[in-house]
Amino acid sequence: MEILNLNDKDNKLFYIGGVVRDEILNAESFDVDLTYEGNAIEFAKNIKGLKILKVNEPFGTVRVLIKNKEVDIASTRAEKYERAGHLPTVTKIGCSLKEDVLRRDFTINALAKNVHTGEIIDFTGGLSDIKNKTIKVLHDNSFIDDPTRILRALKFAVRFNFKLDEHTKLLRDNYLKNINYDMSFKRLKKELIETFNLNSQIAYEEFINAEIYKLVTPKEASLAKINIENFIDKYKKLINPDNIWLIYLGTIEDLSNLELTKEEQKIINDYNTIKNSQPKNDYEIYKLFESLKPESVLLYGIMVNVEIAERYLSKLKNINVNITGKDIKGLGIPPSSKYNNCFEYILKEKLKNPKLSYKEELALAKKFFEKE
Ligand code: ATP
Repeated sequence: MEILNLNDKDNKLFYIGGVVRDEILNAESFDVDLTYEGNAIEFAKNIKGLKILKVNEPFGTVRVLIKNKEVDIASTRAEKYERAGHLPTVTKIGCSLKEDVLRRDFTINALAKNVHTGEIIDFTGGLSDIKNKTIKVLHDNSFIDDPTRILRALKFAVRFNFKLDEHTKLLRDNYLKNINYDMSFKRLKKELIETFNLNSQIAYEEFINAEIYKLVTPKEASLAKINIENFIDKYKKLINPDNIWLIYLGTIEDLSNLELTKEEQKIINDYNTIKNSQPKNDYEIYKLFESLKPESVLLYGIMVNVEIAERYLSKLKNINVNITGKDIKGLGIPPSSKYNNCFEYILKEKLKNPKLSYKEELALAKKFFEKE
């Protein structure tokens, strides 16, 4: 972590949360969170020459430019969950560092490090929990206040190979037996995406076995029969799926709470449309999958028939007809809907013999129209 060269006379500026955890773990950090013990906006305004880019008064945050980098500085703040499962309201800006830390999710995310002295402030036992690879909530209401923390716990457990502390696990399991579905599914979805984009079978098994999936839907779900991580890994390079998380989530029947985007919904709808099909030959397999996103094909493999999906992905997917309508026209055949029949005929031949050259395709086209 780079020490910022700010004139903070009172030593009240802290790195906080994930960035401190990551430094101790020697893990790459995605962003640097800074908190000023007091009002960060006033603090920033009082620093001569500091460029202020953006101020968010209600949250007490300020974006400044330091060494050509945009950096957010938050004020220490206290929060209250007025509606369980929804965003908390800010009750105080400029509270003590301790109060700020106590609103956080886990002890490992509740560490602060003084920017100037480098001292680590640990009010909740986060250092020893990092050492013992343990994820622990700060109080018994934690999951009731914010059930997305159940997924965050899973995400951090998988990312760092940590375990949930026994009491935290008990609180989680109790919550999962009595879920309040009046919650912010937008935040839940964000955590689902981050968790399952890690492509982890361990996360998936815990998600199903510990019934964490019930946060998404009360309907029953069971483990897919194949190892999803291995299956995705095998084809990831070839097909480059954008939404790995949705391949895992697609094994759950009801995603209606998640407000999928059009593109995400199409992946699920396409899978639902093909899931009862059992293509009998290469041509039928090809036609079943050819216009689908890779996520739908992988879902078919996971849930319906792995051999058929694998046949498509590893053998058939890259087979294409190379001649075009222009080529057929060049043979002196006037354009008509028969062109499509001709392409299908050549495709069938190519699926039998993928090595057919462009010239051979053209010869097949000729033959096709001679027969017509
Ligand atoms: P990542 O490396 O995934 O970004 P992070 O710990 O930095 O992990 P963020 O989501 O960026 O996670 O959140 C920053 C900090 O804010 C966390 O370290 C934690 O202290 C606090 N925080 C985030 N989400 C919650 C939450 N749902 N409840 C309480 N505190 C939270």
